[in-house]
Amino acid sequence: MVNDLVLNCRTKLEFVNLPDDAQLKLAADELERLMKTRFAGKKAPGQIVEVFFEVKENAKGFSVKALKNALLFTAPTALEILYAVYDLAEEYLGYCFFEPGIDHLDVTGGKVVLSVGKYLIRNRVPALKLRGLVQEFPFTDEDYIIADWMVKNKLNFLQTWLKYYEEITEDLQDYFDLRGIEIIGGGHNFSFLIPGEKYAKTHPDFFAERNGERIKPSSAKSALLLSEQLCTTNPELREELVKNIIEYSNTHPRIKSLNLSPNDGFGWCECKECSTLYDKNIKGELYSRSEHVHQANSIYHQLLK
Ligand SMILES: [Zn+2]
Repeated sequence: MVNDLVLNCRTKLEFVNLPDDAQLKLAADELERLMKTRFAGKKAPGQIVEVFFEVKENAKGFSVKALKNALLFTAPTALEILYAVYDLAEEYLGYCFFEPGIDHLDVTGGKVVLSVGKYLIRNRVPALKLRGLVQEFPFTDEDYIIADWMVKNKLNFLQTWLKYYEEITEDLQDYFDLRGIEIIGGGHNFSFLIPGEKYAKTHPDFFAERNGERIKPSSAKSALLLSEQLCTTNPELREELVKNIIEYSNTHPRIKSLNLSPNDGFGWCECKECSTLYDKNIKGELYSRSEHVHQANSIYHQLLK
């Protein structure tokens, strides 16, 4: 039909005026690769389908339209052109990117018929600005697979512990960057920023008071650090935290966001100053949990403020 755009094993994609942009280049390579696998066939490709990638800052979300012998991708950013490629693959070519490392594809060969002039994907805008997950294990080569899976599912941030962020290679960081995934340094990081082994002896008052005594913090290398918080109202501790956060940012210039998060568990400080921030008489049904939430709400948020 003259009003149809037919994709099959004879289809040869031709990218028109492809700008010199790494994300658009990746989008083009991915579209080419996904089409080639989908329409694997014996006939040599010869029927040209032109592909236009249009990045328009004011575009409302990303769209894909079938034209006469052409596909038109429009999006406000190059990254969203890449998203459009993956959505087109899932919704029209039969792919499913459910599982990291595997492009599920039920059908190969045959043809896909698209109506000319019709939007295949129209003005798609993510409902959430931040879409991601927390990585609570060190970076390995498997992270290349995770990053690939994340962008196919339009995820854009990965939060990891600062101790793991330390170990990320430049190459892996580039791989995440290219896929529009920001790596946020975070996790339970009081212990990373104020390690017990460095401060416990010289500054015992940096650490929480429990039952009338300052806690003896575990080594910074211990796995969980359950219920070992800081004495967050101590002005000297606050100054040291800020100093260490600034120093960390300066020595890790690629980090754009860094969170400040308590150690795992409970254990909030009961010193005179900290205990003015909460009412010891307020207790919920689940004593330990509600005590913790109640204290964290006041102590922790006051520190952040
Ligand atoms: Zn305190």
